[in-house]
Amino acid sequence: MDFSLTEEQTLILQTAREFSAREIAPKAAELDKSGRWPSEIIPKLAELGFLGMAIPEQYGGAGLDVLSYALAMEEVSAACASCGVIMSVNNSLFCDPLYKFGTEEQKRTILAPVARGEKLGCFGLTEPMSGSDAQTMVTSAEKTKDGWVINGAKNWITNGPHADFILVFAVTEKVDAGPGRPPKLKHTAFVVPKGTQGYSQNPHDHKLGIHAAHSCTVFFENCHVLDSAVVGGVGDGFKVAMATLDGGRIGIASQALGIAKSALGSSVSYAKERKSFGVVIAEHQAIQFKLADMAVELEAARLLTWRAASMKDRGVRHSMESAEAKLYASEMATRVAHRAIQIFGGYGYSTEFPVERNYRDARITEIYEGTSEIQRIVIAAGLLRS
Ligand SMILES: Cc1cc2nc3c(=O)[nH]c(=O)nc-3n(C[C@H](O)[C@H](O)[C@H](O)COP(=O)(O)OP(=O)(O)OC[C@H]3O[C@@H](n4cnc5c(N)ncnc54)[C@H](O)[C@@H]3O)c2cc1C
Repeated sequence: MDFSLTEEQTLILQTAREFSAREIAPKAAELDKSGRWPSEIIPKLAELGFLGMAIPEQYGGAGLDVLSYALAMEEVSAACASCGVIMSVNNSLFCDPLYKFGTEEQKRTILAPVARGEKLGCFGLTEPMSGSDAQTMVTSAEKTKDGWVINGAKNWITNGPHADFILVFAVTEKVDAGPGRPPKLKHTAFVVPKGTQGYSQNPHDHKLGIHAAHSCTVFFENCHVLDSAVVGGVGDGFKVAMATLDGGRIGIASQALGIAKSALGSSVSYAKERKSFGVVIAEHQAIQFKLADMAVELEAARLLTWRAASMKDRGVRHSMESAEAKLYASEMATRVAHRAIQIFGGYGYSTEFPVERNYRDARITEIYEGTSEIQRIVIAAGLLRS
């Protein structure tokens, strides 16, 4: 098996690494402390083609493969996990489904400017009363003569306060499932531009980590959209959502890799400088073993992530592999950041050093785009099916 990167992938990796070190890393602590939206970084990500990486050039994208996207996501997230998830949502949760399920018109008029990074996208699946069990959403869309009227609320919408478009999911049909049974819900995906009457956003949420990646609750109150807003077929919304998350989980696994890489890098440097009992702490075997475990787990997560990315590139079904990558990488990132704090001792607990930020940022990767419990359900279902 060949694990080497192509020339193009190596170039993307180097570009992302240099760019992130130069333009993002110096601002990461300030972004975390202020919770400021990184409005000066997003156009630079766009210039590099990082906001629509795996979308063909004819639709505004960079025309790269999914593995290149994973490489860039890891580097950007190593510098700043908030910038990583802003990029991930635009690529995986907006551009990818628009490319896969959108009409030619949607691709030309909506996907292209979002993939170029001139506009920003977000993804609205979760609701106040339904997260993991997304099928039970209550947001509805009722048919009119020329379109649909959407009513409901979606919460935790990353990029929501700033996005120009939302891909939103709503119940469009309730099918009688027989006596004593709840009706079977059919869902449809719609793309809605900001500014559409009846579509509004709350101020951004306050969170444990990824402070600069703003999320919010959005509302649809008698929001009328035309038939041309439907993405995929009417009634196919859940299929669109699940296929999107299969790809999105590769992005979040890569974000987790970046966070862990940052924590490990800081730990190695610190261990070579900090002294105790007359030697640098890197000479204590207890510290060496921690570093070794962190490195092995990070590398294992990277291989799982790259495997899922390369399967997506080959057009092979990758639901189970994406879930495995996301589950392992996210829990790995929390463990690695936890050990990093231990290596830093008291300084690890201080906001003066980046590892406490890594720890807070890592935690979300175990929750969004399907919690660890949901990933285990997906993996077990795959196992039991085979
Ligand atoms: C910062 C942030 C950003 C987000 N961004 C977005 C976004 O852009 N778009 C979007 O649509 N959503 C977004 N989300 C929502 C996110 O995907 C959900 O929070 C997540 O899917 C979990 O849903 P929930 O919070 O409702 O938890 P619940 O579904 O209520 O789960 C609560 C707990 O029960 C467990 N659980 C639930 N069902 C089972 C089961 N069958 N078996 C075992 N355990 C179970 C869960 O794993 C969890 O531990 C975001 C969330 C956060 C916090």
